[in-house]
Amino acid sequence: MRTIAVVGGGIAGHEAAWAARRQDPDCRVLLFNEEAHPLYSACILADYVSGELPREKVFLLDPQEYHRAGVEFHARSAAIALDVSQRLLVLEGHEVHYDSLVLATGSRPLVPPIEGVALRGVHTLKTLADADQLAMASPRRAVVVGAGPVGLECALALVARGSKVYLVELLPRVLPRLLDEPLAEMVKALLEQKGIHVLTGQKVMEVQGSQKVEAVRTSSGFLEADAVILVLGMRPEVKLASQASLGLGASGGISVDSLMATQAEQVWACGDCVESLDLINGRTGLHMLWGNAVLQGRVAGANAAGGRRRFLGALNVTTVRIGDKAVASVGMTAAELNSQGERLLFKKDAWGNGMGILIADGKLMGAQILGPVERIGGILRILLQGASLGHHMREAGARRLGPESSILWPLKGLEAELKSLGLSTLP
Ligand SMILES: Cc1cc2nc3c(=O)[nH]c(=O)nc-3n(C[C@H](O)[C@H](O)[C@H](O)COP(=O)(O)OP(=O)(O)OC[C@H]3O[C@@H](n4cnc5c(N)ncnc54)[C@H](O)[C@@H]3O)c2cc1C
Repeated sequence: MRTIAVVGGGIAGHEAAWAARRQDPDCRVLLFNEEAHPLYSACILADYVSGELPREKVFLLDPQEYHRAGVEFHARSAAIALDVSQRLLVLEGHEVHYDSLVLATGSRPLVPPIEGVALRGVHTLKTLADADQLAMASPRRAVVVGAGPVGLECALALVARGSKVYLVELLPRVLPRLLDEPLAEMVKALLEQKGIHVLTGQKVMEVQGSQKVEAVRTSSGFLEADAVILVLGMRPEVKLASQASLGLGASGGISVDSLMATQAEQVWACGDCVESLDLINGRTGLHMLWGNAVLQGRVAGANAAGGRRRFLGALNVTTVRIGDKAVASVGMTAAELNSQGERLLFKKDAWGNGMGILIADGKLMGAQILGPVERIGGILRILLQGASLGHHMREAGARRLGPESSILWPLKGLEAELKSLGLSTLP
């Protein structure tokens, strides 16, 4: 009987374990996770912090479901070393010989090397344990550092709990990797309407306090605070992979091919810890989103159990809910593209909704939307379908993309779709 070890019990590891069992119902699947809990959703941790969602609702599985699926789940079980030549995984207190291994070690929050980050009252928001601490702290005044999607969600959650919240961002706009200036300005105004003090273009220099956080020194002054939440993004967790000399890519994620195979025999990897091909721009990089982790996990798990499935590439579609509106971004921003000749077509309506369409060389390179929550999915779908992305994904599958390939969306068919959205008057 084949023994498959999966390291990491987040969504990627979970999907890999289940896919392995589906591929080979006789295989033995061991799933190791250093966290104490069964699978939960990181995507709704902010709703738990805000008090909108009871804690038990963040869980996606109960422990019996592992048993029923034939997956041997080991919580509080960290893998500490890996010898790929011996096919040996070392855990605290025991070792496992595997036939196939899936690394799904996810990511860790980035903590900047500034004075005071070790003080009590400094938090991150990545795990359920982080969310528990933040919910328990319930600070009177909080400084959220980083205005990415998780920073926004965190700031909104703390305002909902009654905290006075400063959201500090180094770059000149909120959601800097998702939005260009016009949409970012609209989102900033919306956040301010919700009671968040948004400070863009400011650098956090130091966290101050004797034992506990008392203030934050920024490049523009001081902010009094009982809590600081560092939400500056995630880095792939690759300790085991590096120690076993598996290849890493330029972005720091584990290098995998389209089978999700690493450079070591019988070792696959998936989720936030890998770098993969971007379906839109054809570049290789990190794609730390839930949907990508699900698909990669399924491919890695099935292949670890003898299958031959392929992951065609990642799609970065990011959405953030702000009250009854949502922001969605797909593809590139003009700032990221930074090429001559691109055009950001922007439209705003009287209800505070907006849309930006990025076009370069006659191709749709990205879209940014702020609109009613219930319409946002539909708008994105129309955009993606209108731009024939589906067609291109199928094509990509047929001809196996190389890392240099690019499948930027052609504009053909998009005009009519935009008209149906009332965007025919774009400049
Ligand atoms: C607050 C927050 C909100 C988010 N919101 C969204 C969203 O709205 N939409 C979206 O698409 N994505 C969102 N994401 C991102 C999404 O949650 C991740 O892309 C996804 O969870 C990645 O899953 P993963 O299994 O690869 O990694 P992880 O979830 O990081 O899981 C990896 C697991 O492996 C464990 N592990 C690591 N090393 C070892 C080891 N050596 N031994 C044993 N176990 C180990 C870790 O403890 C962890 O439990 C959000 C993330 C956060 C933090």
